[in-house]
Amino acid sequence: MTLCLQHPRYGYYMTHDPFGALGDFITAPEISQMFGEMIGLWLADAWSLCGAPQQARLVELGPGRGTLMTDVLRALRVAPGLSERLAVDLVETSPALRQVQRETLAGETIPIEWRDTLAEAPRGPLFLIANEFFDALPVRQFVRTAPGWRERVVGLNRERRLAFGLAPGVEPDLPLNAPLHAMIEISPVGQNVMAEIAQRIASDGGAALIIDYGYTKTTLGESLQAVSRHAYVDPLTTPGEADLTAHVDFAALARAARAEGAKVLGPTTQGRFLTQIGIERRAAALRGRANDRQKADIDSALHRLTGSGDPREVMGDLFKVMAVTHPDMPDPPGFAEIES
Ligand code: SAH
Repeated sequence: MTLCLQHPRYGYYMTHDPFGALGDFITAPEISQMFGEMIGLWLADAWSLCGAPQQARLVELGPGRGTLMTDVLRALRVAPGLSERLAVDLVETSPALRQVQRETLAGETIPIEWRDTLAEAPRGPLFLIANEFFDALPVRQFVRTAPGWRERVVGLNRERRLAFGLAPGVEPDLPLNAPLHAMIEISPVGQNVMAEIAQRIASDGGAALIIDYGYTKTTLGESLQAVSRHAYVDPLTTPGEADLTAHVDFAALARAARAEGAKVLGPTTQGRFLTQIGIERRAAALRGRANDRQKADIDSALHRLTGSGDPREVMGDLFKVMAVTHPDMPDPPGFAEIES
């Protein structure tokens, strides 16, 4: 998975701009400016709930085309004093996407630095956003066999084509209470990144918002998928040409964050989160200045971002939102339990 996505010459993210109607998939910030604006307001609120620290760091993991950060920075301007105190770090490994981000953010006055990893971003109160980042991190898959769990691996078959197989050894550390042939996915890289975010927030203060498609309880099953031009493809036939992702295990991320002494809010659904923090009021304000065609676009974007139903059409249920905060900070909005 790492090779297919990150290989310096042939990796998917190194050679492609995967976004938009002509690309392979569309993400929430590419659907509507409302998404990034609401995240920006949430981050501004989190900053003031942390006591409005000087020299806050705004970090985005996997910024794509830079659209989300542009909308976030515009919305943040409503918080007096915040923009002047902010330094932005964009954690991005793809040179092609870094170039797109540079162009998108060319007019910004806030200082922006590009980093290969979060570890390179200087310490300090951390305000972090990761949208559809964790799903791009590699997972390991294990299959339950009679003697125990064995890791699923990729090798060559007799025709010398890529094929799935099983490693010979069994994994002693996985619980055995699963049926034969069951599969489990684990993302040690994702858990390590989460632990690093949480460790910084617990020691330096701040808040992080993780948004991705995934599940709220650790579950059995396979979610590795390859997507090319808005269609599912076999992950082994065109390595480096298709986007590879896996659903995010939010329960595992929450455990990793709590183990570092941070507080976890959620996960909730993207639909509930955006509605609670007021996206409908933002849509109404935009509608007030729009013509009929624009009004229809705003309504359709709102529905795609928050609606319940078929995940191929709406993001409201499948996408989850989880916050990681400093334990002494009052809870930021968006995670209240509401009886439905
Ligand atoms: N957040 C954006 C893009 C999501 S796609 C959006 O919502 O539109 C995933 C992004 O993460 C891409 O920018 C990709 O290049 C980047 N990425 C993937 N793996 C990464 C890694 N290990 N380190 C840093 N960036 C990574």
